[in-house]
Amino acid sequence: MSLADLVELSDEPSNLDEALLDHVHVGVCVTREQRFLYVNHQLAHMLGYEVAAMIGGMRSLDIVHPEDRDRVLGTVERRRAGEAMPPYDVRLVGAGGRELHARVCGRPIRYRGAAANLVTMTDISEVKHALHEADWRARMLTLTEDLCGGASLAIDLHRDSVTASAGWWALLRMMGSAAAVGRRAVLSRIPRADRRTVVATWRNAVPGQPFELQHHLLCADGRMRVVHQRGLIEFDTGNGPPRGIAILQDITAQRDAERRLHELPNLDPLTDLPNRSGLIERMAQLAVQEGDAEGTAFLLAIGIPQLIQVKQGLGFEAGDELAAVIAFRLAAALPAGDVLARLGGGEFAVLACTGAGTELGAALSVRARAVAAALEEPVSLPGANLAVTHAIGAARSPEDGPLNATLLSAALIALRNALDTGPGALRLASWSGTERVVRELALEWALQRAVVDGEMSLLYQPQVDLRSGEVVGVEALLRWHSPSLGEVSPEEFIPIAEQSGRILALGDWVLAQACAQAARWKREGLPTLRVHVNISAAQLSRDGFAGRVQAALLEAGADPSQLGIEVTESMLAGDTAKAARELGALRAIGIEIALDDFGTGYSNLSTLRALPIDVIKIDRSYVHDVLASPGDVSVTRAVITMAHNLQMRVLAEGVETESQLALLMAHRCDAVQGFYFSRPVDAEGAAALAREGSRLPEELRQRRPRRRTLLLVDDEENILAALRRLLRRGDYQIVTATSAAEGLQRLAETEVDVIVSDQRMPGMTGVEFLRRAKDLYPHTVRIVLSGYTELQSITAAINEGAIYKFLTKPWEDELLRANIDEAFRQKEMADDNRRLDQEVRTANVELADLNLRLQGALAQQREQMSLVEDRGRNALDVLYSVPVPLIGFDAEGLVAFANQDAERLLPGASEWIGTCADDALPPELRRVLALDDGQSVEATLGGVPCTCSCRSIDSDGGRRGRLIAILPRR
Ligand code: C2E
Ligand code: CA
Ligand code: CA
Repeated sequence: MSLADLVELSDEPSNLDEALLDHVHVGVCVTREQRFLYVNHQLAHMLGYEVAAMIGGMRSLDIVHPEDRDRVLGTVERRRAGEAMPPYDVRLVGAGGRELHARVCGRPIRYRGAAANLVTMTDISEVKHALHEADWRARMLTLTEDLCGGASLAIDLHRDSVTASAGWWALLRMMGSAAAVGRRAVLSRIPRADRRTVVATWRNAVPGQPFELQHHLLCADGRMRVVHQRGLIEFDTGNGPPRGIAILQDITAQRDAERRLHELPNLDPLTDLPNRSGLIERMAQLAVQEGDAEGTAFLLAIGIPQLIQVKQGLGFEAGDELAAVIAFRLAAALPAGDVLARLGGGEFAVLACTGAGTELGAALSVRARAVAAALEEPVSLPGANLAVTHAIGAARSPEDGPLNATLLSAALIALRNALDTGPGALRLASWSGTERVVRELALEWALQRAVVDGEMSLLYQPQVDLRSGEVVGVEALLRWHSPSLGEVSPEEFIPIAEQSGRILALGDWVLAQACAQAARWKREGLPTLRVHVNISAAQLSRDGFAGRVQAALLEAGADPSQLGIEVTESMLAGDTAKAARELGALRAIGIEIALDDFGTGYSNLSTLRALPIDVIKIDRSYVHDVLASPGDVSVTRAVITMAHNLQMRVLAEGVETESQLALLMAHRCDAVQGFYFSRPVDAEGAAALAREGSRLPEELRQRRPRRRTLLLVDDEENILAALRRLLRRGDYQIVTATSAAEGLQRLAETEVDVIVSDQRMPGMTGVEFLRRAKDLYPHTVRIVLSGYTELQSITAAINEGAIYKFLTKPWEDELLRANIDEAFRQKEMADDNRRLDQEVRTANVELADLNLRLQGALAQQREQMSLVEDRGRNALDVLYSVPVPLIGFDAEGLVAFANQDAERLLPGASEWIGTCADDALPPELRRVLALDDGQSVEATLGGVPCTCSCRSIDSDGGRRGRLIAILPRR
């Protein structure tokens, strides 16, 4: 029976009931309209009031905390309305304002005849306090775990269950996971290497005695963390199961810091690169790995003098800044895997390995190039733009020392040598077989600044025209005087400049210099000297080559007629169309294009037909003297002739002797270049040679062919005079005529090569005159000079071949001169061709003649042979019918014939023919066959006594047969 039941049963509570209620440990009261009708002792005691005071003077809400009163009123109201209300917690206020927590339960009753509320109140202040405390502790734990990266685990040692704190999941970087997990799940987070130790430690733990250990945890983000674990197995848990408690703390950061602390002495604080001891440690590590690794380890010591200079001159800060920039650039430029170290002072070091199958020289040159490239750009420091230089000392292991401080010393000693040699130098501790690499690197480095530092210059080698004997051009040849390397041949440095790409800048410089020199010569009034410039493949294939060349001319103020471009066959082999376009554009404005080193490549002349080439430069190896073998000489002659056929001129290179010159002249070579005339000389030297006039030796000069002749026809005397003046320097004699008729007269008197005629002349127009000239002298080259307006009447003449060229009046001096020169070349080429044609034709005629004779001889031979045959055949007929038995044998001893009488004497003899005498003949005859010439024997043949003789006879080819004659003695 509950308390409420008890109260309800007795509508009018008796004294006994009240006495009973006074004894229960729960506060009880009965209220009506907020008045206490009854209060038991326990409630008064709980609140610290007197029972009488409460019943007499207090309202029921007075004991409720003001903030909870509305809630209480609401509940009472709903209960009165018949709703069943569950117990609820409120704060009560007791005597002196003391606050306490109570669980309240009320129900309506009848009391003393009227409706009232029966209310019971249990003091729950202590429970509330304990709950609050527990909550606070839990929050503190989470907060602590959060702050120290900690976690805790409660391990049920009997069942497979672990209760994990939020910190555990945070540590593992796992979100919102369950509080309870299996033991296996926890262990799976400990890496295998540590797991054994952790499990063993827990197994051996003594209950009640805490223990500690450190191990790793594998986190959900894949990273490994280090934790410090404190553990305890609870000694006595009362009735609960035995438990293990583990507290974990993340000490990863601490460990890292410790490690860094350990490494600090090995790191350069400015650049974070290994310092000297760090480098030695890395070498030691490499030495351990070396056993398995293929390849060779080597060490470069890089010295940068500016690092020390800057520190001394601009202070430590600037020095540090420079070192930091250099460290950054070097690290970026070196291959991944190389160890870059800062040794302090002005030195860095690189520890590297050649890969398997990589040559040491190649590996070394990769690093040296990377270093040079990294330091190429100046470094900008506050107030200074600093050019940085370097030198490198290299050592390899084990040859120069084991992988430790010894190797470093070896590299540093090599560096001292390199620094003494000068910027860019590379020295090896004791390294043989890599001299070439070292030399190339040194050249490459020195090339960087060669132009800027004024180490480059041009020499000019004269090119002599073989008709006039004068210097008409020069080839610009690059010369390099390096302060550290001395004179370096272009044959050595041009390929390196090409490989490293420096050829572009170098080529631009050469072009600019050559154009400037040409312009200077023009200003000095020197007869036009064409300066030929060698061009590399990279220059030609760079976009806008033609534009660049034109710009160089413009910049210098030189004319296209003063410039030549030399390219090689191999350069035309790649993108032929592009090369042809670029060169064609240059040729169109009057720049001469020469094909260098012809004969050293693979192309043949006829494939060059489509390319814009003016001059073929035949290589030195085709230049022979008169003593050379006819085969060699004929190749040279063929090249020259073919080039002429393709309308190209030929210049022979490397002519060193007069004998070579003579042979080239005989082969109609157009120009030569070589030590015979001059070695490459400076600009003044070249100009002096150009001023001197013909350079041909006297005896060769006389051998020059008939003078070329130009006929000028114009009715205006002053024009003739002007033309004469203009053309007087040309390598030809000039005859003039003032009318077409007079022109024809001149043609009859003199052998003329080229005719230039005015169009408008009284009597006969230029075109009519040239038509006649064509009929009479078809080999002349004919040019008409006229105004544009007459173009109409001239085109027909051009089409029918009466006119080679049409030039406008007024003419441009240079153009006219060039056209006339060209016309002579045409004429001579045509002459050459005709001559060649003639030669071939003559040769053909001779051959035909020879054939004819040969055929005649053959026919005769055949006739004789048949005569012989006939004669033989006749002889046989005669022998056959001779009235004496005869048997003939050939050189092989076969029976060749037996005549009628032999058959008659020895029936069946004719069947012996073709058989071997030894087999066929009767013994008597065999004996006869063995007789010497002139001997005879008696024998009985076919029953007839006979005298037999045998003699040799000449058979065909001088071999001897035999003939037996039998004379019957009857
Ligand atoms: P190359 O274009 O064939 O130049 C001719 C070379 O032959 C020059 O050598 C010249 O001095 C040499 N030589 C001239 N006459 C004779 C002779 O009678 N006998 C002998 N034995 N040699 C003679 P160099 O000046 O040493 O130039 C070598 C090469 O370097 C040139 O060969 C050319 O290919 C290249 N080169 C020179 N200057 C430049 C340049 O400015 N740019 C480019 N891309 N290459 C250049
Ligand atoms: Ca050349
Ligand atoms: Ca050449």
